[in-house]
Amino acid sequence: MGEFEYEALLDRARENIPEDISNRRRWRLPEPQILIEGSNTIFQNFNAVVSMMDRDENHVYQFIQNELGTAASRDGPRIRLKGRIPPKRIRKTIVNYVNTYIKCSQCSAPDTVFMKEDRTTLLKCQACGATRPVKL
Ligand SMILES: [Zn+2]
Repeated sequence: MGEFEYEALLDRARENIPEDISNRRRWRLPEPQILIEGSNTIFQNFNAVVSMMDRDENHVYQFIQNELGTAASRDGPRIRLKGRIPPKRIRKTIVNYVNTYIKCSQCSAPDTVFMKEDRTTLLKCQACGATRPVKL
């Protein structure tokens, strides 16, 4: 990879995840740090991103693999994904996870918890009290 392409990659990695997530006053996810290494893609700060989510890290790990349609392996705080995956797609996957499993659909607060009700899992917002079913 030429130097120019490498710089362009870094620029893309520095782009912000969409405003509605990254600009929240009380809650900010670290920017995913993505590195292409040979034919693999390294998500360098996976642990740091997940630790801000307050969710089961294996759930996030599985979700990323399903969404990107590729296999991953854990490597300390990083994950290694098979294939060269554009950083933009990885950011989009994180955003999808947040929208599906974290963000309240009523007030957009990230202060939510999973709740079991009969056989359904609900996402309950601790800010406004709204609930919605989620598929785990
Ligand atoms: Zn809410």
